[in-house]
Order: sequence, then C-alpha cells, then structure tokens
Amino acid sequence: MLYLGAHMSIQGGLNRAIDRIQKVKGTALQIFSKNQRQWKIPPLKEEEIETFLKKRKQWGNYPIAIHTSYLVNLASPEASLRKKSVENLKEEIKRATLLKIEYIITHPGSHRQKGLDKGLVFLKDSLQELLDFASKLAYSGKILLENTCGSGSLLGGNLEELGQVLEELNFPSNLGCCLDSAHLLAAGYDLSANYLLTRKKIDTSLGLENIYFWHLNDSEYPLGSKRDKHTHIGKGYIGLEGFKNILNDSAFIHLPKVIETPKGKDESLDKENLQRLKELISCKTN
Ligand SMILES: [Zn+2]
Repeated sequence: MLYLGAHMSIQGGLNRAIDRIQKVKGTALQIFSKNQRQWKIPPLKEEEIETFLKKRKQWGNYPIAIHTSYLVNLASPEASLRKKSVENLKEEIKRATLLKIEYIITHPGSHRQKGLDKGLVFLKDSLQELLDFASKLAYSGKILLENTCGSGSLLGGNLEELGQVLEELNFPSNLGCCLDSAHLLAAGYDLSANYLLTRKKIDTSLGLENIYFWHLNDSEYPLGSKRDKHTHIGKGYIGLEGFKNILNDSAFIHLPKVIETPKGKDESLDKENLQRLKELISCKTN
C-alpha cells in the first residue's frame, strides 16, 4: 500500500485536515494538533474526538502523525523550558491516544551553545520521561525524532547523534525516527548520485528498521548548506532523482510519507507535488 500525503492545516477543526487530505487523494496525513506557536493546549471535546474518528474511518484509516510545536526544546539547558517542553509533549501523547494517532514527530531540540554532549543528555532524559509516560498511558503509537539541517546548536543534523540517543535508551519499541529529505540534504547527505552511501549512513547511524516516517520536501539550499527551507518537489537541490531513490527503496516503500512543501491559496500545489512524486514510483507497493 502506498501511504503518500501531506501536512494539512486543522483550521476550522481537527477533522477539517481530513477533508483537506481527501481533496488531494492523500493516503497519509500530518497535522499540528493545536496552534503550533502557542504553549496552550485546550482540552479535546468528546464531540471533536468522535467527529475526527468517524471522518478518519470514512477516509480509510490511513496513517496520521502529529508534529509537535516549534516552541518545544527537549534538549534545552534551561530546566524550566525543558520541563515546559516535556509537559507539552505529554499533552500531545494524551491527545494522540484519544485520537488514535500512531505517530508523534518531534525535533530533537537545541543545546543553545552549551555543548552537544550536554544537549544529548538532556534530550535523552526528556525522552525517557516521555516514553515512560506513553507506556503508562498505554499509548500504542510511537514518538519519532526528526533529523534536522544541523545549523547552529540544533541537534540531529548528524544522524549519529540521534543514533546515540536511541542506543542509550536501548532502542525502545515506542521510539523511532522520521527522516526529512530537505534536512538530510542541508546537513550534507546526498540523496541523488551518492544515495547508496547516504542509505548506508542511515543504516549504520540509526538502523533502517528504526525509520517509520518520511517528510518529502525539496531543498531551496544546496548540499551541506545547513539551511532549512523547503521547496516544491523537483524544484530544489534534491531534484527528481533523489525522490525517485527514496520512493523506490525497499526499506522505505511501505512507510508513510508526507510533503511539507509551500502551500498556495487552495490544495492545487499539494496536488501537483504529490502527482510529481507518484510519477517517480516504479515499484509495485502492494
Ligand atoms: Zn519536516
């Protein structure tokens, strides 16, 4: 089965994201579960949950991920911000449990010039608390760490950093990774001519089996630029060849993949980007 879709807005209600993904015939979805620029998480109403689950079933129960707020920093050297971030993610886990959403994708955070090693310890401790919380809540989904472009103090540009965290936590079954193609390229991982080398690095750093989700975005800036700007599929420095490699890779073929490319007034740009990706698939997926 091909799980290919997009990040969609929840403006007008959570269930509206499902209307939007259906409009582009997507079979995977990512949402912010609430306003991503605010800490506040309003409680979910019973009715909201029911409508969402009902609509999701009509759509086909395809995979869904919640992307956490950009305010969250699980690796912050500031104890108060770290605590706030962990509490925020606990609320996301509660929401994902109620809405039966199987993935929660979060950025690993930033060490804020306090050094990589310290940042990784903070990240690991925050994750341990969240994984324990998720187990207690019997959340059956997974928390996924997303790789980043690696600029400044951001953790997770180098995949080995994420691998180190997974290893130190003993590869728990409810933790994995989400790979973003634009972030990979910006961090120096070639997805075109040297795809096989990049695949090998993903495998040795993280383990191919620990990848559960992809963000497919082209990159406005070149290989190793450490700059994060998403652009339309085939219009950036990754190019169609890179996406062809990812889409037809047997290790990733059954994984949900969503685009986070620039949006227009309606869904037409998403439609075009998804169509471009579909045309690159040569393997049978079912
Ligand atoms: Zn992403």
